[in-house]
Amino acid sequence: MADRIVNGRRRSDDLILDTALRDFYDAADEMHLNEGLISMLSYPERRVDVSVPVELEDGKIKVFKGYRVQHSTALGPSKGGIRYGKEVTGAECEGLAMLMTWKCSLAGIPYGGGKGGIACDPTALTLREKERMSRTYGARIAPIIGRWSDIPAPDMYTGGQEMVWIMDTICKMLGHFEPAMLTGKPIDYWGARGRTEATGRGLATCGLELMRIKGLDPSKMKVSVQGFGNVGSYTALLLKQAGATIVAISDTTGTYYNPKGINVEKAFEYMNREPGVRGKRLEGFEKEGCEKLGISDALFVDCDFLFPCALQGVINEETANKVKANYILEGANSPTTQEGEVILNDRGAIVVPDFLANAGGVVGSYFEWAQNLQGLSWTEEEYNERLTKLMTENFNKVWNYAQDKKVTMRRSAYIAAIKRVSDIVALRGVYL
Ligand code: GLU
Repeated sequence: MADRIVNGRRRSDDLILDTALRDFYDAADEMHLNEGLISMLSYPERRVDVSVPVELEDGKIKVFKGYRVQHSTALGPSKGGIRYGKEVTGAECEGLAMLMTWKCSLAGIPYGGGKGGIACDPTALTLREKERMSRTYGARIAPIIGRWSDIPAPDMYTGGQEMVWIMDTICKMLGHFEPAMLTGKPIDYWGARGRTEATGRGLATCGLELMRIKGLDPSKMKVSVQGFGNVGSYTALLLKQAGATIVAISDTTGTYYNPKGINVEKAFEYMNREPGVRGKRLEGFEKEGCEKLGISDALFVDCDFLFPCALQGVINEETANKVKANYILEGANSPTTQEGEVILNDRGAIVVPDFLANAGGVVGSYFEWAQNLQGLSWTEEEYNERLTKLMTENFNKVWNYAQDKKVTMRRSAYIAAIKRVSDIVALRGVYL
């Protein structure tokens, strides 16, 4: 992915990195941020590229490319997930690590931003191949990982199992146990009760808060959720439990639509009927009284609230004018391009940006890390209560500023997030 400088500013061919850079520059200019600081924050502090050789079941060795990026450690250790996917590149990880810096800053938690990943097709690997890949990747990024330096977590196509493999490998290398080096762990392996649902809970909290502010009755709201992975599935479930009608859910097999309401609990049962391949678990769900539509149709069905929880860049200049929802809450990272957002803004739709809307995951990770450092565990009620409180406050902070200054929620969120980082950089100096 080529980088270039346009009018003194860094730009990239990678859509996620380029969107992150452009959003950052626009907000930084509005804040009259110092030009030196702007260029400093345009680049990650550190990026480690690793090769990940894996012995496949047929005995052949395949080498995958892996990355770990630390965008900023101004506010604390860098924090962010590890994703597996065919499209993963170092540039994408740079963009996502930058988003994590803003996400942690905005949430007021003591972290900088990081992200990592492996370019692979996780659905084409066996469990053992994935284990060998995760362990080798873990070993190769181990020198920069630690509870006070860089703390990974799950992201697309990774979960508790991958975290166990990576942490177990690094702990063996260290010769001692260090649970706070990584979050999103299974509950019995130093995980936190509530973490699995945390991103969905945070997203649903933002949706319900927006309904409250706008005087909308949740039981009259039609909701569409694109993506039925960890984020989308719990968002749909929690919003349904709050009274909303979930008219569509989707995964890589298609969109499942029922204007009278999807039985989300049934979809969970359906998805867990066998281990299945992540991203393909809803295959055949039309049998449960739904109409099956195309993969992208979840974005376009008639609804009030849309939660894009699948892929980056799906709401863009070609698709944005087909979106009917008036409220769009970004569960995925970077699902809307700048061009797509202009179209939505022009027709008065409200977009709640990813690094506010999906921050429940990293906020939940912070709670897990804090428990690990103390060696104690909270009840699920305490965890959920703290998460909901923090997300509600965060949402209102961004909402109020946006109303006050007549800017979009994304711009409002950027300004608050950049300010916290730049204030600390000003105090610490540039020797970071
Ligand atoms: N992968 C999640 C995100 O993008 C969680 C990161 C974390 O918990 O560190 O926010």
